[in-house]
Amino acid sequence: MSEQSYDYDVLVIGAGPGGYVAAIRAAQLGLKTACADGRETLGGTCLNVGCIPSKAMLHASEYFDAAANGAMAKMGIDVTPKLNLPAMHAQRVDAVKGLTAGIEFLFKKNKVDWLKGYAAFTGKDSVEVAGKTYRAKNIIIATGSSVTPLPGVEVDNDKQVIVDSTGALELAKVPGHMVVIGGGVIGLELGSVWRRLGAKVTCVEFLDQILPGMDADVRKDANRIFKKQGIEFKLKTKVTGAVVKGKKAVLTLEPAAGGEAETLEADVVLVSIGRRPNTDGLALDKAGLAVNARGQIETDHDFSTQVPGIWAIGDVIPGPMLAHKAEDEGIACAENIAGQTGIVNHDVIPSVVYTWPEIAGVGLTEEQAKEKSEVKVGKFPMAGNSRAKTNHEPDGFVKIIADAKTDRVLGVWCIASVAGTMIAQAAQAMEFGATSEDIAYTCHAHPTHSEAIKEAAMAVTGKPIHV
Ligand code: FAD
Ligand code: NAD
Repeated sequence: MSEQSYDYDVLVIGAGPGGYVAAIRAAQLGLKTACADGRETLGGTCLNVGCIPSKAMLHASEYFDAAANGAMAKMGIDVTPKLNLPAMHAQRVDAVKGLTAGIEFLFKKNKVDWLKGYAAFTGKDSVEVAGKTYRAKNIIIATGSSVTPLPGVEVDNDKQVIVDSTGALELAKVPGHMVVIGGGVIGLELGSVWRRLGAKVTCVEFLDQILPGMDADVRKDANRIFKKQGIEFKLKTKVTGAVVKGKKAVLTLEPAAGGEAETLEADVVLVSIGRRPNTDGLALDKAGLAVNARGQIETDHDFSTQVPGIWAIGDVIPGPMLAHKAEDEGIACAENIAGQTGIVNHDVIPSVVYTWPEIAGVGLTEEQAKEKSEVKVGKFPMAGNSRAKTNHEPDGFVKIIADAKTDRVLGVWCIASVAGTMIAQAAQAMEFGATSEDIAYTCHAHPTHSEAIKEAAMAVTGKPIHV
């Protein structure tokens, strides 16, 4: 087939942070590019129903909580907040509108064609979108992920009784009792939103601790902090069924290891037990592709699949389901298609839970690091940090895990009001192969929360100043 018969050099399937970024980068590199997505607006899960709207609700509810729980009074501001939930939702919708329109603008600016519709493969180098077939020299699958369903607990976002994350962002009133199934990132972020606005929140988690995958100290302290805020946890517990009766749901719970069942009534149930890759409807078989046991598309380090010319990035491939991971893969993949060397260092992907305080980490947990080598650990409490103390934010700590022999930093974990911002420094240091000594002897501005990172690094060799 001749080069001329291709409609595009690159056709991206999916316009989430992986796909839209890949499309823009490919166009910037001079490749004729299209991006297919059937949503009404660009930006995928992240901009439409994920990162952005959840942060809009977290930010607004944080102010409400500060006014309601006495945090403002501590600083001499006496206020009695009154919730205007429609206005809070309106600013969320506005944020989404502005940012998704921004991607449409960037597509136009970079001459990326938006093919409005869902794509299905018709061959190794062709897809059909909205009844039209397109041939492309390279096809990038960036179809993202959707909510993992829980058998017996059927989500119906319209009824607003059993909802998923999309439904939980849009509740028309504050639930009396919200039960969150799954003590992961979504459960804790959206559970926090409604707890702050007045709901009683119970979190049912299958495992013996919340936030699997994070450092054990972080998981334990996060549990303590959320409990103090009023979230009730039922750990080592599974939900086996739900019955909706009018405006309420009755859940059946059992110990994870099996045992006597109990029931729990809720006004709203949030199902947040994970997400699974989107590959249904892609007709992967027509392209000669298959998924692995977890439903993901496997790729090589350069994001190529086993079929030449077909690439995959983001939530649909293995690795953490995070927007910044998808974006970095999008850039690297487009660069590889253009003949450059696009690389993503999957060992240094920060992750952040945007609760109060924030929880962040990058690299290995202490448990993972100990399996690989002997380690030295430095820990510094936020209560010893002058800025956090002045701001009435005593909770949390920074923990740095370094190789005992080389002192190279293997992982950094923190709980702090601005942990999500602080972790960028740790990621950059690790990307540069820093030792804990490098961080300890880097001058940090005073008074900042980031000084706690310096002190934790000093604590690796047992020499912090402020504890
Ligand atoms: P997606 O963003 O899922 O985009 C995929 C797109 O592909 C979708 O628009 C879909 O319509 C489209 N599509 C699917 N099939 C087809 C098809 N056949 N043809 C055409 N188009 C198709 N991550 C963070 O890093 N930080 C956060 O704060 C954060 N908060 C989150 C909060 C919530 C409530 C949720 C649900 C997720 C959150 N995430 C967060 C995760 C983040 O949204 C995802 O990791 C990220 O969106 C993945 O990007 P992606 O491009 O791979 O896929
Ligand atoms: P998750 O994997 O973070 O947490 C799911 C939790 O549910 C786990 O703790 C798991 O043990 C538990 N669980 C699983 N089955 C269960 C059951 N039957 N009963 C009780 N508990 C059960 O998943 P999530 O919170 O749904 O989030 C999905 C993805 O979205 C995550 O991978 C996350 O990376 C991404 N996300 C990221 C952010 C962020 O970066 N701030 C925010 C939201 C979502």
